[in-house]
Amino acid sequence: MRLGILGGGQLGRMLALAAAPLGVSVRCLDEKKESPAAVAAQMHVASYTDSTALTRFAEGLDVVTCEFENVPAEASAALAERLPVYPSPRALAVASDRLAEKGFLREVGVPTATFAAVCTPEEATDAAQELGIPLVLKSARFGYDGKGQVWVREVHDAAAAFTQLGCSAAVAEAAVPFRRELSILAVRGRDGTTVRYPLVENYHEAGILRRSLAPAPGVSAATQAQAEQVVQRVLEGLDYVGVIAVECFELADGGLAVNEIAPRVHNSGHWSIEGAETSQFENHVRAVLGLPLGSTAPRGVSEMHNLIGKVPSREAVLHIPGAHLHLYDKTPRPGRKLGHVTVCAEDAATLAERVAQLRARLGDEVVGGATRMQAHV
Ligand code: AMP
Repeated sequence: MRLGILGGGQLGRMLALAAAPLGVSVRCLDEKKESPAAVAAQMHVASYTDSTALTRFAEGLDVVTCEFENVPAEASAALAERLPVYPSPRALAVASDRLAEKGFLREVGVPTATFAAVCTPEEATDAAQELGIPLVLKSARFGYDGKGQVWVREVHDAAAAFTQLGCSAAVAEAAVPFRRELSILAVRGRDGTTVRYPLVENYHEAGILRRSLAPAPGVSAATQAQAEQVVQRVLEGLDYVGVIAVECFELADGGLAVNEIAPRVHNSGHWSIEGAETSQFENHVRAVLGLPLGSTAPRGVSEMHNLIGKVPSREAVLHIPGAHLHLYDKTPRPGRKLGHVTVCAEDAATLAERVAQLRARLGDEVVGGATRMQAHV
């Protein structure tokens, strides 16, 4: 079986590493020469919009998937004429445009922050008056890791904030007074079978995910049930195949509001490599190839820390029982995700002890602050 992946970053790398034991060979298309996926995949270096390169890339493949949502629409559409592409071009189009995404979520009855479309500075002022402040303006396209967004704290700053974003369309969102950020990952097979991972608790710093706790502690049965209902509506509404992540805000009463959806394997699911019966990467490969899905049951408890901007010594991490190191072969740069560490344990107390050891060896700067991140509001 041959799987093609659009993108050759760390997600492509971990997908390719998961595909290998299943006897699935992987080919990645990326515009950059140095790609983390090169360790386990055959690389094609070309522009995503080069139709000759796309034809060569597609030759002999059984199915194509992607590891980022901003795939040029013409590339996924051109490939979809030749072979199955999962997630579908429509799912990618919805999830890569915040306005289309919010509209879709509303249509399928999923709660989100109150929002308005903003295409001019005047509309930004109107939105601030209608939705109240603080509010956040997010560019409709190409925003990730907190990029392409700006907080507005005074109505009279809204117009300038929109101009500062420098985009033609944005979504204005009322601030959600969340208790914490949770995400749910689910997998839908080609036959419609769906499995879900438990909710995960996420901490961000400067808009970038620092760490995830899996399963999220203290989640009520009602919250888990709401998350599962939400993700089911999204999967069915998009006729989705593969892994999807739904990022949510948990409110004071345990209710959820969806922040965004990611139509791909997701950073908040990296813990599943060692912490679940079947990792998100293996399950994505299984789903898009039409293979049976694997169990998503957690094996004990896990905490995943992103390595951002700096790589610790291998020894420092590997000394700690239950700690698993993943480096992505990327050149260090401030703010860049270079790898992650997942610490696993049978119970929460042992996990806390091991994470404390990790922090003592690596320092807060490398493993992320010990305190819970505060909401913006
Ligand atoms: P995003 O790029 O949409 O994931 O936003 C990055 C981070 O900004 C989120 O993880 C939240 O911490 C925060 N954030 C985004 N939208 C809102 C909102 N409407 N209300 C409160 N915080 C938000």
